[in-house]
Amino acid sequence: MHDTLPQDMHLWHRLEDSVRSVFSSYGFEEIRIPVVEKTEVFARAIGDATDVVEKEMYTFEDRNGDLLSLRPEGTAGVVRAVLQNGLLYAAPLRLWYMGQMFRRERPQKGRTRQFHQVGVEVFGSKGPDIDAELLAMCQRIWNTVGLSGLRLEVNSLGTSQERSRYRDQLHEFLSDNRASLDADSLRRLDRNPLRILDSKNPQVQEMLADAPVLSEYLGDESSDYFDGFLGLLDGFGVDYQVNPRLVRGLDYYCHAVFEWITDDLGAQGTVCAGGRYDGLVEIQGGKPWPGVGFAMGQERLIELMRLNAEPEAETPHVYLVMAGEGAVPGGMQLAERLRDDVSGLRIQSNLGGGSFKAQFKRADRSRAALAIVLGEDELANSVATIKHLREHKPQEQVAFDDLGKWFDHWLQIN
Ligand code: ATP
Ligand code: MG
Repeated sequence: MHDTLPQDMHLWHRLEDSVRSVFSSYGFEEIRIPVVEKTEVFARAIGDATDVVEKEMYTFEDRNGDLLSLRPEGTAGVVRAVLQNGLLYAAPLRLWYMGQMFRRERPQKGRTRQFHQVGVEVFGSKGPDIDAELLAMCQRIWNTVGLSGLRLEVNSLGTSQERSRYRDQLHEFLSDNRASLDADSLRRLDRNPLRILDSKNPQVQEMLADAPVLSEYLGDESSDYFDGFLGLLDGFGVDYQVNPRLVRGLDYYCHAVFEWITDDLGAQGTVCAGGRYDGLVEIQGGKPWPGVGFAMGQERLIELMRLNAEPEAETPHVYLVMAGEGAVPGGMQLAERLRDDVSGLRIQSNLGGGSFKAQFKRADRSRAALAIVLGEDELANSVATIKHLREHKPQEQVAFDDLGKWFDHWLQIN
């Protein structure tokens, strides 16, 4: 579990501001749900036979004996909240969330035990219109934060009946090829054989080349659905590759599933994943409302943003230098006035006194572009001296009353 340090915050803010504004431009509303839920909320929704529920959840007993877990993902809790608060009267319901998730996995690059996801869930819309729109929305987020080179892979998982016919055939094939399966795959063979399809083991992958393919088990309705989905993506100009082996780790997916993948982060290259989960609301005790959504891994996206163009950190614009203790109250009041008058201006006041030299050293370390210098003369005359700290430009004297205008103009041209 990692700390997120101040030097990285500008990347986090940029990502979070971008998703907020893109989601709202598609009519999505935010929901905030608890970090802890009853364990059964996850066990029911995600499935008992999944890695997440079997061995990755942080689960503990409450003082009254209730079994609780830290959330390993957002969808189950959002469904619980939507049902409990009766939000489906307004279906189709478009929601997004953001926050920490917890999974006790083996920590490695791109995989931590606390991580952050941004996700969306849409309830009450059969698709495939919304499914495709979600991907246009992702594409817009990548563009907004300056990420290029993400690949989109898509697949159809059909209906649960189709999947179950396919599962039987796949199980038979895999049992016949048992010798090529590793320990991980053997463990999945009887409980969740579809998951073997996304094994990372090259020997397993080689054997899978001859395995039956799910698309051959789809009926007309599922095929039409998937064709419609792909057609909409074409219309949006969203590029994709159909990957017939793409299955999602969680049991509740059906029809369209997708992953956005980068080759720039090593093995943990999936930055966003999702799909349709029409059975989930019913599993959680509601009517059979259709649903679709995705979740992005924020840490992986931030890493990728760092590799691409790194935007400027949020350094202060102005450092306030105050000569002598007498200048402090007036100086800090002036800073307050500037925060009132100039929207977006970032001012850092010098703290703890010190000589001019010491204060300018701190000003330099703050990476501010400008310093306001206030001595007793300046305060007596209501005039500030402005020094440019990063450019060779003469210092300026500006009357307090004109400072607001001066900084407004400066912000515009910088
Ligand atoms: P993976 O195949 O990488 O384990 P997953 O299928 O378990 O992913 P999802 O449950 O679909 O992942 O979560 C969506 C996204 O959240 C992932 O694509 C990834 O970007 C991110 N994510 C999942 N688990 C972690 C983790 N332990 N650390 C960091 N990011 C994660
Ligand atoms: Mg995982």
